[in-house]
Amino acid sequence: MITRVLTPEEGGVSEAAAILRAGGLVAIPTETVYGLAADALSQVAAASVFEAKGRPQDNPLIVHIAGEDMLSPLVPEIPGRAKALMEAFWPGPLTIILPKSDNVPDSVTAGLPTVAVRMPSHPVALAVIWETGRPLAAPSANRSGFPSPTAAAHCLADLNGRIPLILDGGSCEVGVESTVVTLCGKTARILRPGAVTPGDIAAVLGGVEIDPAVTLPVGENETVSSPGMKYRHYAPRARVIILEGDDFGPFRRLPDLNRPGTHCLVFEEELADCPVPALSLGPKKDCAEHARRLFAALRELDDRGAELICARVAGKGEGSLAVYNRMLRAAGFEVIRGGDVL
Ligand code: AMP
Ligand code: MG
Repeated sequence: MITRVLTPEEGGVSEAAAILRAGGLVAIPTETVYGLAADALSQVAAASVFEAKGRPQDNPLIVHIAGEDMLSPLVPEIPGRAKALMEAFWPGPLTIILPKSDNVPDSVTAGLPTVAVRMPSHPVALAVIWETGRPLAAPSANRSGFPSPTAAAHCLADLNGRIPLILDGGSCEVGVESTVVTLCGKTARILRPGAVTPGDIAAVLGGVEIDPAVTLPVGENETVSSPGMKYRHYAPRARVIILEGDDFGPFRRLPDLNRPGTHCLVFEEELADCPVPALSLGPKKDCAEHARRLFAALRELDDRGAELICARVAGKGEGSLAVYNRMLRAAGFEVIRGGDVL
């Protein structure tokens, strides 16, 4: 199959809608990362997403809608808490999990009785959904396990020959996937951190829990609320080690950091001090910029032939939790703390 790349100016939106209506797959830009879209009401179309990505069958897809009218057929009822979150954060990077109605095929929800729904804010994503006239199931448009795509070139690198069209809408504004919150329990619970923070959600609902799997590894046979949390994820080919701590100084003594093949991902302020080739995540305090650059930087370091990537993180605070969560998984939870360096 030949994979075409079109911009919206080149008629990409109508092309995309025609392919999607016929049950095909298209990579589309959203404000978080690029999504690999399929008709969410077609069992067959949604199932082919798993094949194109090499995605484990038990990891459900997020359904993207363009208007609140599109939500009603997907769920038996819209609870008050969901309405409050929709009012506050939609369109935007928040995915809400609710009990599903029978219309939603099992291939979308991986057999779960619940469905994850989001209204993206990216104008091209919204235009594609409107023109297709259906909700679109869309996980990130990468090969499963690799860093998520934040530019059309990343989708092409991973899915060339596997899908007919990539819609090029430039670089993604947020850079990490949506916050996922489930409303299926008594208290709202964050299953995946994103640009909408726990504090943002608590301000609307009065409280929110954070699933322990956000910052802790999940055991082989453990049941998790969000199947995606148990997989190696977001990882480049190179091994990744996290360097955690306020100060970069102590890490300069690490033998790993002075070996050929090691590259670093550091804060802007640390670039000049880094003993090996490095890329910048942006200024230390600018967490939004870290999110924007993270996945592209991991891909770039792979392209440069890095064997080991030593990556700085800004910690588990409100603003940096999303990047911390992605980095932990990319690193398979390998963390060195500044205080531990002799
Ligand atoms: P991706 O689309 O690749 O960003 O991944 C979607 C994420 O949402 C994965 O971590 C899924 O496990 C999670 N997810 C989607 N639907 C559900 C659901 N019904 N219940 C729990 N987690 C879900
Ligand atoms: Mg993904």
